[in-house]
Amino acid sequence: MLVELAIGDAYGAGFEYADPAFVTRHNTLEGYVRHPRHHGIRPGSYTDDTQMTLALAELRVSGAEWTPESVASAFVTAFHRDPREGYARGFQAFLGSVRTGAEFLARIRPDSDKSGAAMRASPAGLLPTADEVLHHTDVQARVTHDTPDGVASARAAALAVHYCHHGLGPVAEVGSWIADRLGSGVWARPWRGKVGSKGVMSVRAALTAVAAGGSLSSVLRACVAFTGDVDTVATVALAAASRSAEIRADLPPALVDGLENGPFGRDHLARLDTVLR
Ligand SMILES: [Mg+2]
Repeated sequence: MLVELAIGDAYGAGFEYADPAFVTRHNTLEGYVRHPRHHGIRPGSYTDDTQMTLALAELRVSGAEWTPESVASAFVTAFHRDPREGYARGFQAFLGSVRTGAEFLARIRPDSDKSGAAMRASPAGLLPTADEVLHHTDVQARVTHDTPDGVASARAAALAVHYCHHGLGPVAEVGSWIADRLGSGVWARPWRGKVGSKGVMSVRAALTAVAAGGSLSSVLRACVAFTGDVDTVATVALAAASRSAEIRADLPPALVDGLENGPFGRDHLARLDTVLR
């Protein structure tokens, strides 16, 4: 799951808010694409979506208590050991300025309804029961996104992983299952067109791509074809899709091999995947 979502993130990062004509021309999965404007991000590098997901995956694997402070501390540690581009400017500066989870919590204004809590929701989605998934998700989401839509989009993203991982039904019905669980029909409504920065938008687009099924390649291409905030769409979608027995694992070797493989890159993610349950 972690390797696949990182591939989705890194591939999508080349197309984030890029011109639709650029997306149409280059969304071929032949390799990672250099973003037409963000030259600081090397093709094959993942972004904030994967780094924060990795932080939460490591926290789960560590067996430490899942609290606002342990979650915040995981974010701070993951950023400082491996600073990278891709974060929203203000949040990147904030992360750079805090040293501990306690300091993070004391200074954060957790009022965002964007996709930041949803993009990192997948590690909690693997938990055995939906109640545990929702509890863990609420705790991690409220650290930065303590708003109705910020939390709900994280819940929907985590439940999508849960649904696929435990094979709770056909992928085509993932959105309606989540809509039932969360008591909101919005999750069953297919997304069309450009994806903006709100969490609800990214997760609806991701659910639409997953529900179409097929293979990881077709899901990834569909995510990027939406245009807009597509690294997050692809991160959320590939996390869920990679856990589905219905969706064929066929990501091209060029994307697997081209994923960054430094200390926290592909091999590290793959090792963690084997122990994350
Ligand atoms: Mg990102």
